[in-house]
Amino acid sequence: MLHKNFKNIDRVTYGRGSFSQLAQTIEPVRKENNKYFVFVIDNYFHDKALKNQLQNLPEDLIFYIDVDPHEPTTEQIDQLRDEILSKKGLPSGVIGIGGGSIMDIAKALSLMLTNEGSSTLYQGLNLIKKPGVYHLGVPTISGTGAEVSMTAVLTGPEKKLGLKCDWTVFNQVILDPELIESVPTDWWFYTGMDTYIHCIESESGIRNNAFSLAYGEQALKLCREVYLGDKSGQTADNNDKLMVASIMGGLSLTYSEVGVCHALSYGLSKIHGTRHCFANCVIFQHLGDIYPKGHSEFMNMLKLHKIDLPQQMSKDWDDETLTAMAQVSYNLPFMWNHAFGDNWQEKVNLDYIKSLFKRL
Ligand code: NAD
Ligand code: ZN
Repeated sequence: MLHKNFKNIDRVTYGRGSFSQLAQTIEPVRKENNKYFVFVIDNYFHDKALKNQLQNLPEDLIFYIDVDPHEPTTEQIDQLRDEILSKKGLPSGVIGIGGGSIMDIAKALSLMLTNEGSSTLYQGLNLIKKPGVYHLGVPTISGTGAEVSMTAVLTGPEKKLGLKCDWTVFNQVILDPELIESVPTDWWFYTGMDTYIHCIESESGIRNNAFSLAYGEQALKLCREVYLGDKSGQTADNNDKLMVASIMGGLSLTYSEVGVCHALSYGLSKIHGTRHCFANCVIFQHLGDIYPKGHSEFMNMLKLHKIDLPQQMSKDWDDETLTAMAQVSYNLPFMWNHAFGDNWQEKVNLDYIKSLFKRL
């Protein structure tokens, strides 16, 4: 087995109010290329106080992006890249401020500013030819781990797949827990549970190891403090913890693997457009036999925070739909291998995966 040689974020600034250090952080990079920065910001902040705290200079380009109509697409990145290069040439760097969607847009844009042609050419592992420009991520929702991962997930005409390589990883992240205060409770739950599920899946499989487990155990401890017990809830102290849990969960899965819930989640998202973190929650509620301990804790967290998840979704799915969903999930062999071991194919086939989808 080839051991992974994963690339971490170069630099991390963490703490309440740390966003105010953005300008000084990027100042040394401003001399690069055409000496301006591109900001890609979640449209949620368009009319919020953050708009006046960007510390941008007049030459910088600012794009507010609505991430709700769809997850980031190859077409969207190509258009943005062409617009930026034709307006001002190569920037010093890209700053992404938002949730997982904006993190992925910032990472993909950084790479596509220096790699010719459509981003569809680079969906996959190590297909990118040249390093991108400097890129900095400021997460405003915690859970996906997109702020630390080596992939920028894009939906293209043919596939939903990331631009995945060492150069995708951010040069810098600024983790300011004050920025996640405004996340609505349901999203706070779904995205936090993405971290929780990353850790449960990472530790429950053959790729688990002391390195991934150390991150995963710490993230689980933080998740339990945030989502279980008397002090759980969306408090300032818990936001401090959740931001760290998201990073630790991302590192844990990077050095191990995710499992059954994520494999199914890709099938659900690809065929029905269901958002990643929500899809994981919808699925995980039915995986008590596969992840018994994590499942019972998850059900307690659901109850404690009064989260209602949809039931009986599968009653509207015909066999063709189920087969299409199962096909997407089956094509993630690393996840099934991790979850069920080297003989996974003895257990996992399209019928088995369809039976799991029928639980939904
Ligand atoms: P998101 O970025 O899609 O945002 C969800 C919603 O929250 C949006 O309506 C957004 O406007 C809003 N929002 C963002 N910050 C807010 C704040 N502080 N206050 C109030 N509202 C706020 O959410 P997400 O779940 O973080 O990201 C999902 C995306 O991440 C998907 O596109 C998925 O493919 C991707 N993803 C990437 C990775 C990776 O490793 N690259 C991993 C998992 C998921
Ligand atoms: Zn996930």
